[in-house]
Amino acid sequence: MELSNFVRNNIRNLIPYSSARDEAGRASEVYLDANENPFPNGINRYPDPQQYELKKCIAAQKGIDTSQLLLGNGSDEIIDLLIRSFCNPGIDEIIITPPTYGMYKVLADINNVICKEVRLSADFSLNVKRILETVSGYTKIIMLCSPNNPSGNLLAIPDITTILQEFKGPVLIDEAYIDFAKQDSWLTKLHQYPNLIVCQTLSKAWAMAGLRVGIAIASREIINVLQKIKPPYNINQLTQDRAIELLQDTEGYRERVQYLLDEKEKLITALNTINVIKEIFPSDANFLLVRFDDPDKVYQSLTREGIVVRNRSMQPLCTGCLRITIGLKEENEKLISALKRYTA
Ligand SMILES: *Cc1c(COP(=O)(O)O)cnc(C)c1O
Repeated sequence: MELSNFVRNNIRNLIPYSSARDEAGRASEVYLDANENPFPNGINRYPDPQQYELKKCIAAQKGIDTSQLLLGNGSDEIIDLLIRSFCNPGIDEIIITPPTYGMYKVLADINNVICKEVRLSADFSLNVKRILETVSGYTKIIMLCSPNNPSGNLLAIPDITTILQEFKGPVLIDEAYIDFAKQDSWLTKLHQYPNLIVCQTLSKAWAMAGLRVGIAIASREIINVLQKIKPPYNINQLTQDRAIELLQDTEGYRERVQYLLDEKEKLITALNTINVIKEIFPSDANFLLVRFDDPDKVYQSLTREGIVVRNRSMQPLCTGCLRITIGLKEENEKLISALKRYTA
């Protein structure tokens, strides 16, 4: 089946909004087309709707072509664009694999799209057989997260490969944490799978959560669909400028990722000495999922000490679990001291 058969009819037939800047091109001198205020202050013009300079920067770093890129106001916008491109409200379905990132279901719910859940196995691996059995004629996207949030593990390559081969529709692999992982991005396999969509972000390893830049990387065919429905000026000028500036510091980026990976190892060693901890799950991300005897009591005790962690104990397979982000050395030490006081 053709991938375009998975696109909603109204989106396939859509004539997209064409902004003044889209039509003008970039080389002009006098802009009297967009009813902007001509007095210069750095932001009096509409931003580049195609984010050409920022995309050039990101594409060069990832070794891809800018035509395979779409930027969103955070990954959340990209996930929303995917749902709205492929899923007819009230009719179509997506498949997700809990415990996983909460926004997939929320965005499906907002769009009135059915969200079918196929739980991960007890070791947080994919249940490929059950996922494929759950696929119906209405299934339009399978959403996977690797490394997975909140469990922290990478999903196995052969499992994802089977899904990419057996399901002919779009498969999203959310790689928000891939920069911390020992494994390569699925980007390298993009040419093999026209239905593969990789989603990355500047929010985590690149330390720009406040800017809101999500990155979709996929075949030109899929990018063109998302391109049609994205809001024309979805990445503002200040964000584009600042992201370009901060992306130059590749050395600092690598140092900070390594720092966090080192801190993660130290934190694991320290947590292992704390007796109310039952289990620390292996992590390929910048956080640890940790199982306690009484997670709510630990959570409250930490909160009283001014330390906020994420209580994931109500999530499937996560009974007793708190999710702890790796912070600065001194922050991680404060956490350990607080946990020691709690146990004492
Ligand atoms: C943090 C996170 C993101 C990032 O979302 P942004 O909107 O880009 O900040 C995406 N996916 C997962 C699984 C995450 O944990």
